[in-house]
Amino acid sequence: MTTHMNKIAILPGDGIGPEIMAQAVRVLEALGESFEMERAEVGGAGYAAHGHPLPEATLKLAKEADAVLFGAVGDYKYDTLERALRPEQAILGLRRELGLFANLRPAILYPELAGASTLKPEVVSGLDILIIRELTGDIYFGKPRGVRECPDGPFQGQREGFDTMRYAEGEIRRIAHVAFQAAQKRDRRVTSVDKANVLETFQFWRDIVTEVHKDYPDVALEHMYVDNAAMQLVRAPKKFDVIVTGNMFGDILSDAAAMLTGSIGMLPSASLDANNKGLYEPSHGSAPDIAGQGIANPLATILSAAMMLRFSLGKAEQADRVEAAVKQVLAQGLRTADIFEEGTTRVSTEQMGDAVVKALG
Ligand code: NAD
Repeated sequence: MTTHMNKIAILPGDGIGPEIMAQAVRVLEALGESFEMERAEVGGAGYAAHGHPLPEATLKLAKEADAVLFGAVGDYKYDTLERALRPEQAILGLRRELGLFANLRPAILYPELAGASTLKPEVVSGLDILIIRELTGDIYFGKPRGVRECPDGPFQGQREGFDTMRYAEGEIRRIAHVAFQAAQKRDRRVTSVDKANVLETFQFWRDIVTEVHKDYPDVALEHMYVDNAAMQLVRAPKKFDVIVTGNMFGDILSDAAAMLTGSIGMLPSASLDANNKGLYEPSHGSAPDIAGQGIANPLATILSAAMMLRFSLGKAEQADRVEAAVKQVLAQGLRTADIFEEGTTRVSTEQMGDAVVKALG
């Protein structure tokens, strides 16, 4: 029997992308598994090398691979390019071409970093929640949309802007399955966030999520209106386990949740397709302001690699090992500049990578 060797597409990108990716690759290599890792240019680096932010060879590699590990893209020097050639288009292109519809963003606050949050330590210390945002539907993509002459009401005849909110049954079902299955790997609780009291689309969302829940009797489901969810996220965020919601509410709530932790350099993310193939990337951007200085925090990228092991490569034990190693280096007091506090030890990007590799044992 031939065993399939997992192929990982390594797309470092721009700015701090190559620096943080180098450390994540070292961590993967240190696990003692044989992965096939192949690199390609993306973003500004793709444009510089091949005239396009998502070169054909990069897309081909991403499609062939079992998972994609992505650094970050973007640089001020590409801001004057026409929109279709800007580095950020690479992410949208990859999402579309790979059919990535589920965005998973954990918000974890290690007790050692509780001081970095703007909330009181007792409210956020030990926070470990997962926000799942639907990526392809909702008012962001619904048609018709545009600016037209207002057909009725007190402003009839004036110009009006309008968009269309819509979600197809299959679209809701597949994201609900992702949420329940993710919860099975965690504390087995899902909060579905909607606006069913006002919006037809989200009453339908609530009905379908409730139906899909019948397949997962081992997971508890609660429904919550988005305004209440926003309030609970800053009041008692630790009450949540998995939150699943639509594209627009997820956009807003996931950024709020990210800020609960106070340290953008720590947050991984995943975008999955229907077969659990995914693209894994830190939640932050390419940080051109600190690129090339060797001070960027590589932990978000290393934790993204851990998510990749868990969700796309079926290696939960290895994912646990990487996450435990990250906890250990934080407990040792090692900090990159972005999370440095008095009384801790300041380390470079590479030294942080060294420490994680060493903690893997
Ligand atoms: P950013 O996330 O790159 O940086 C925001 C701030 O956080 C900066 O001060 C930066 O130095 C700091 N920071 C970010 N990551 C860090 C890390 N790992 N370690 C230490 N500090 C870190 O956001 P921005 O400045 O708004 O955008 C910069 C570029 O990144 C832009 O071109 C933008 O379009 C792009 N961007 C890309 C992605 C992506 O690739 N997914 C996401 C957001 C922004």
